[in-house]
Amino acid sequence: MEIGRAGESDIQIRWSDGKIVIYPARFLRLACPCAVCVDETTGRRILVVASVPPDVRPLAIEPVGRYAISIRWSDGHSTGIYTWEWLYQLAGELPKQETQPPEK
Ligand SMILES: [Zn+2]
Repeated sequence: MEIGRAGESDIQIRWSDGKIVIYPARFLRLACPCAVCVDETTGRRILVVASVPPDVRPLAIEPVGRYAISIRWSDGHSTGIYTWEWLYQLAGELPKQETQPPEK
C-alpha cells in the first residue's frame, strides 16, 4: 500500500489491488479506534464529535510495523492505531464521492 496526502488535509491510500481511496481527514479522526475514543468494553464511541475541530488534519503519519499506521492529529490526538485491514473495511463506509476508480 502507498499512503499519501490528498489536498490540504485528506489522506489517500493506494491499495495493492489498485483501488485508490481518499479518506477525509475529519472523518478519519472521528473514526479513531483507540481506547480514548472508543470504550474498550462496550465498543461504544465516546469521542465527543464537537471536540474535534472542523479543520483537523494529520500532522504526521507513521508506520506501525507492517500492519498499521499511527496518525498524529492537529488537535493533539495521537494514540490511534489504524490497521490496514481496518482502513480497507472503512473504505466501504465512506460517502460515495470520496472513492475513486483505479487509475488506468
Ligand atoms: Zn483516538
